[in-house]
Amino acid sequence: MDKNTFVVEKPCPICQQKTRVIKPKSRLMMIKQDPDTCVHYKDFNIYLYRIWLCEHCGFAGDEATFGVKLTDRTRAQIKEYLDANPIDHEFLDEHTAGDAIASFERAIECLDLLKMPLAKKASTCHQLAWVYRSIENKEMEEEYLKKAAELYAQSLATERYPMGKLTDTGALFVTGAIYYLLNDYSNCASFLSRIIGDQNARVRERVIFEKARTLWEDVRAAQKEAEKKK
Ligand SMILES: [Zn+2]
Repeated sequence: MDKNTFVVEKPCPICQQKTRVIKPKSRLMMIKQDPDTCVHYKDFNIYLYRIWLCEHCGFAGDEATFGVKLTDRTRAQIKEYLDANPIDHEFLDEHTAGDAIASFERAIECLDLLKMPLAKKASTCHQLAWVYRSIENKEMEEEYLKKAAELYAQSLATERYPMGKLTDTGALFVTGAIYYLLNDYSNCASFLSRIIGDQNARVRERVIFEKARTLWEDVRAAQKEAEKKK
């Protein structure tokens, strides 16, 4: 058991039995944050524990998804899917990257079945990219970063914000930052410029606005560098 975690019991929204799940302790020491908001803690990868997996039925989701209220019909549909597509779901008190990846994949399938907002799927794909980042699997990290950016872009075009704590300015920033890490400077610039050109964001979301401006400068520098090489 990792010293930064503890076990609690929570009811599963699908089978409604209590399952053991792992939570990170609140006193973690942050070391750094990547441009796309991935947080690194001392000797601990919080993203390995982001998804809970029911030890009885194999349902997977983050803490908020475990708390959703479902109709009997939705519950039955998901139960049927989980029974037809079983994965290993025994309780593990410590997670490897491989365990976390399997849980994230199942959680993404469950989000589709639950018809959750695109923004939620985007953030789940984004966090799965961070698990791949932690094991230096560049190819899979980029695959999930691309998925996350495309889903955020679709969400921004079609869904209403704020979505929980996420404002549209926050979603624009994250999308721009993902494109920055993918070296896609033109897409990055198009998302960041929507923040920088927004006077409301400048006043109401000062922190994100400043982060966007700083990243914008980095993008301009990177673009100039790329032009020189041509
Ligand atoms: Zn369950």
